[in-house]
Amino acid sequence: MMIGRAPNFNAGPAAMPQSVLEHAAQEMTNYADTGMSVMELSHRSTAYEAIHDEAQAHVRTLYGLSDEYVVLFLQGGASTQFAMVPMHALTPQTHGAYVVNGSWGEKALAEARIVGNADVCASTKDGGYRTIRPWDAQWTNRAPAYVHITTNETIEGVQWSTEALPKHVDCPLIADMSSDLFSRPLDVRPFSLIYAGAQKNIGPSGVTLVIARKSFVDVPRPHVPTMLRYDTHIKANSLYNTPPTFAIYMMSLVLRWISDNGGLEAMDARSRQRAGHVYRAIDDSGGFYVGHADAHSRSQMNVTFRLPTPELEKQFLQEAKKQNFVGLAGHRSVGGIRVSNYNAVTEQAIDAVVSFMRHFCQMHG
Ligand SMILES: *Cc1c(COP(=O)(O)O)cnc(C)c1O
Repeated sequence: MMIGRAPNFNAGPAAMPQSVLEHAAQEMTNYADTGMSVMELSHRSTAYEAIHDEAQAHVRTLYGLSDEYVVLFLQGGASTQFAMVPMHALTPQTHGAYVVNGSWGEKALAEARIVGNADVCASTKDGGYRTIRPWDAQWTNRAPAYVHITTNETIEGVQWSTEALPKHVDCPLIADMSSDLFSRPLDVRPFSLIYAGAQKNIGPSGVTLVIARKSFVDVPRPHVPTMLRYDTHIKANSLYNTPPTFAIYMMSLVLRWISDNGGLEAMDARSRQRAGHVYRAIDDSGGFYVGHADAHSRSQMNVTFRLPTPELEKQFLQEAKKQNFVGLAGHRSVGGIRVSNYNAVTEQAIDAVVSFMRHFCQMHG
């Protein structure tokens, strides 16, 4: 039996802050003297409305959003945004341009192609998705309706560094930030639409956060089904139908926790430090551990690496399991090892896995 909390490196759903779970447990059966759990409240009640508003306010404050931006709580995961964006933004005459640096970018592209025209303006597939190429102004030469990027490729462990993100793009810029939103400060102004499933950095699965420029999204699209139209959710303040109230409540608590713990600067500094420990263990291993990402494209959120043989990887995971580490196997499509390092992963958990890595290397290297 597990004693206490597992060192959890799951890629999503992922570790949650312990204090948030305890807070939620405390008010599980009687939220704010309502005599009900949050999940029993009407989504039209004032008690729930306060939760909804607080979650939105945290998003606005953490990113310093102006009135030009709307914050939406949707369902269907980032995977539904793969379709909603092109359904909203493409016409038969226009195309979307996709920067593909990994598996999620590929999925976004494939979905857009079901809806309309989508081109690849850059892909690092030939190199095995190890690198992020710097922004190239030529990508907008063919006047796409938008350019789509994935700021952190969760499966391969490559990430746009904050410095590499474009400062200005002369067409709408869309970003899938599912696995790095709220992990670092960000100037949202170059972006027309940002989306993220909550289950990596900011909560449980079930709610998808969209931050979008009103002028880009608040446009009627009568040919698109009602639930898949952004203007539906803008008009209804994300209460058009029953929203995932409990997931939004948990997200609100996590966002409060981020605010109370130094905000995005602090999340960034701490995750950079934690990821640095793991990358150092890789770099100090004399080639026993081989990182997947090129040095300048390394993800602060998902550290991916291989061992010399599949047998050693299997043994690594078996011994890790014996020590109660959770979630260290790489994504089933790429194999290897992945240490996910989201906001709620503790320094102790990272220290423990780094000690384990160093010890395993000494024994088998
Ligand atoms: C997890 C993830 C997705 C898929 O999210 P769902 O909410 O499961 O649809 C998409 N993109 C990225 C970058 C992810 O990490």
